[in-house]
Amino acid sequence: MENLVHFDIAAVIMLLVMLMTNIFSKRAKNTAGHIYVLLVGVTMVAALFNVFTVALENIGTDNVVLHNIVRTIYLLFHNTATPLFVMYIISLTRTWHKFKTNPHIGIILMIPYFVVVGIIVSNPFTNIVFTLENGALVKTTFADSLYFFATFYVLLGFVYIIMYRRTLRIGAILVLCSSIPLGIVAVFVKHFFPRSLVEIFSNAVVLMIISMTIQNPEKNVDTITNLRKYRAYVTDIKTDFTNNNHHKLILINIANYDSLRSLLGYDYTNELLKNIANKLSDCNKTNNARSELYYLDRGKFRIVVNGYNASKAEKLAADINEALKHMIEINRIEVTIDAFVCLAKLPEDIGDYKSLMAFGNDFHERVEKTGEVYLASELFKQRDFHLMNDMENIIEKAFKNRSFTVYYQPIYSIEKKRFVSAEALLRLIDDEYGFIPPNLFIPVAEKTGAIHRIGDIVLENVCQFIAGEDFKRLGLDYIEINLSVVQCMQRGLADNILSTIKRYGISPDKINLEITETAANYSQNILIENMTKLINAGVSFSLDDFGTGYSNMARLASLPLKIVKLDKTFVDNSNKPKLHIFLKGTIKMLKDMDMEIVVEGIETEQMVNTFSNLNCDFIQGYYYSKPIPEPDFVKFIENARTSA
Ligand code: C2E
Ligand code: MG
Ligand code: MG
Repeated sequence: MENLVHFDIAAVIMLLVMLMTNIFSKRAKNTAGHIYVLLVGVTMVAALFNVFTVALENIGTDNVVLHNIVRTIYLLFHNTATPLFVMYIISLTRTWHKFKTNPHIGIILMIPYFVVVGIIVSNPFTNIVFTLENGALVKTTFADSLYFFATFYVLLGFVYIIMYRRTLRIGAILVLCSSIPLGIVAVFVKHFFPRSLVEIFSNAVVLMIISMTIQNPEKNVDTITNLRKYRAYVTDIKTDFTNNNHHKLILINIANYDSLRSLLGYDYTNELLKNIANKLSDCNKTNNARSELYYLDRGKFRIVVNGYNASKAEKLAADINEALKHMIEINRIEVTIDAFVCLAKLPEDIGDYKSLMAFGNDFHERVEKTGEVYLASELFKQRDFHLMNDMENIIEKAFKNRSFTVYYQPIYSIEKKRFVSAEALLRLIDDEYGFIPPNLFIPVAEKTGAIHRIGDIVLENVCQFIAGEDFKRLGLDYIEINLSVVQCMQRGLADNILSTIKRYGISPDKINLEITETAANYSQNILIENMTKLINAGVSFSLDDFGTGYSNMARLASLPLKIVKLDKTFVDNSNKPKLHIFLKGTIKMLKDMDMEIVVEGIETEQMVNTFSNLNCDFIQGYYYSKPIPEPDFVKFIENARTSA
């Protein structure tokens, strides 16, 4: 009776399609990707030669040599697929380095395969697997033991999946395990329809599922650069940290990406990215570094140099740095890319995933210029990153332990020649990290929403201070309180503030709220609504940090502000002739608009004089005092009174 080869023919077609799409489409160029293609190829050859075997039998030729060649090739390829499948799983779990440290384990695990190859290759002389009778194949002694070896590798694969399940996505585990039910189905089919050769077909189905899921280029490969995507990078890096896989990482950030994008537009930016990706791939090839290349987004490229090739990372980084110095011509525009290159040894330099992501995001802002390969060991300050990673907890702890304190920095009136007000500035002193500047914890608090509770603490403290005896004795006009952008965007802000003021029974004109231009940028409507309500009740407003953003004069004029605070950057540059003229004009304009002017960050007497001459109203800065705790502030003002 003839065997049916339909399933094998179908398998050959399926595998051929997979092979073609994998070779010609944007597949993942990493170890797992390479092994996958090999696996498809090997399975396809096995299917093809199985078809040949059956064809020879059907023709009924008694050419023994031909029979032997065809059958031997089939068996060799078919039995290579299972160990390859295990290698594919090892690549997915990124654990090859385990075999580097324990090479004997790898060798021991390969022994069954070598035995199988030995048995198959010796068959033409020994006939221990099959023999030919009247042009038909007959199984002999070892024919079934080949299944035993195959089962060994399949089991090994599953043990491996279980051992390293934490490094695989749940979807990947399910897909890899789908070969079990499919294998069982194949066994059943073969049992009931012994002439149907469904074995390879079921393997092909598994490979196709893998191709559509784990190896799916859409999920893993960036269509513009042809490099692996952010998602793949995240998985790989996390896996490497979990497995304690030591490797080197080259980080490339294009600092002027945003400006290049607005200059070149969408299509040409893509062309530029493609061009850069090609340069990286070329460097990788010439260095024979076999590294994995990723494009994350917004001009950020990453290269993982693994295993035996890690020693090539320094040279590769240097070459990339050199290659990216050259201008690139895009649409007849010569563009220079500000590429910052950094080399990190992982996990020695940076020990965890979160810190690495935070570091990679802005390491280029820690250095001054492009042109050299920076070392993460020098740039990465463990403490800063621990601090930033821990910030949410630190903030929560501060609420619990009541360790937020409000400090006051006195503000001097040039006209009245005395201190008339103060700015409330929040301080956070953590028992582990010590003093944490507001510039670090406020942005985090804004993201988590903790800023609202922080705002309440500051307002309560200030109101309590104003309601107290000390404040009355000092004769101060008001206290300035900083409002964050997030607070300004809140509908209930005005009611909330007014109810606190009322609760303490203080006059609303003792409070001045500082907003920034960014706040005005966000939600003009809600901001104006809040401002109007508060101003009608008697609260006044200052515009903080004037001159740091893109000062929009029209908007400035439209806001009901009492005070404008010139930022320290103005102060620091006031001796530059052109800036001095600009400053003079700005101050005149603000005065004509009936606004009062506070100058911030004044540290010297000379500066005091400069700004007095420029007709400013108030001075705030270290020259008089740093922000100090409430009792010290009270003493400071009292002393200033008596010595005046
Ligand atoms: P800001 O409102 O512009 O506050 C002025 C900053 O300049 C303060 O920094 C102050 O200590 C510092 N400063 C004052 N005089 C001098 C000087 O002469 N030289 C120098 N080098 N610096 C001077 P600080 O306290 O670190 O606060 C930084 C920023 O954090 C503040 O900038 C403000 O935007 C924010 N912030 C502080 N407290 C609060 C708060 O309670 N709520 C909100 N939302 N933000 C706050
Ligand atoms: Mg301020
Ligand atoms: Mg300021």
